[in-house]
Amino acid sequence: MNMDIGRTLVCFSGGVDSTGALLKLIDEGKNPVAFWCDYGQPYNEPEKEAVERICKKLNIQLIEAILDLSDLIAIGGKKFGHVFPARNLMIASIGLCFKPKEIVLAGLCDELVVPDKSLRMYDEFIKYFEIPLYSPFVNMTKTEVLCVWKAKWDKYLNAKETVSCYSNNGDCQDCSSCAKRKVAFVASGYTNQYPQVFTNQHELIEGHWFSRVDIFQYERRTDMLIALSKYQEKLTPKLQELVSYNCQKYKEEIDKRKNQLNELKEQ
Ligand SMILES: [Zn+2]
Repeated sequence: MNMDIGRTLVCFSGGVDSTGALLKLIDEGKNPVAFWCDYGQPYNEPEKEAVERICKKLNIQLIEAILDLSDLIAIGGKKFGHVFPARNLMIASIGLCFKPKEIVLAGLCDELVVPDKSLRMYDEFIKYFEIPLYSPFVNMTKTEVLCVWKAKWDKYLNAKETVSCYSNNGDCQDCSSCAKRKVAFVASGYTNQYPQVFTNQHELIEGHWFSRVDIFQYERRTDMLIALSKYQEKLTPKLQELVSYNCQKYKEEIDKRKNQLNELKEQ
């Protein structure tokens, strides 16, 4: 497939972060190309549907690369307990074939934990490949991206059209990805509906999340508490207790965070 040399290539998965990156570039008057890789990931079907639907709506060129690595993914899962180590590096490297001006890999500030989606990766990619790789959201969380989205990009696309779910139907409301996504949607005020995943995944939230609430980054902690407290009466009794206790404990932080988010929405 041909692509004009010198355009920005966005590694695209149909989720909030990479779609937000496309919208930011469009809003700045640029003409990005979306790049999606079907490498045999377990949730590739809803992803494919989403990336094609979104690019069509935004009238953006989409390049799809297909390489079936599902056997290797199964081995990697067993060996490293990880869906696919270094998949971001692989996707970005394939993107180099199209000789873009730059490559966007939309990592959020609280998610830069894997080596190939980290500040070091953004720093060093250019040294080896001579093309810059960056994230426009390197200082932002998903909640903050959605605040800006509501204020500036809603005219292009509703954020609910994005997909990021570890199941084959794209919006199971019963996985950790859905839970994280809904925290951001509720905390940002993008939606005003109780997300069923807060009930379905209560064990994950009560156990895995709240056991680490004190060591979470400030943004992650406050966003989670803001989102859960909004629908406190619908939560399980145990979750209600955890939310009340921590909302009191972190009251000042939460107030500060709410102000920050409101400022982003008023841009
Ligand atoms: Zn899900």
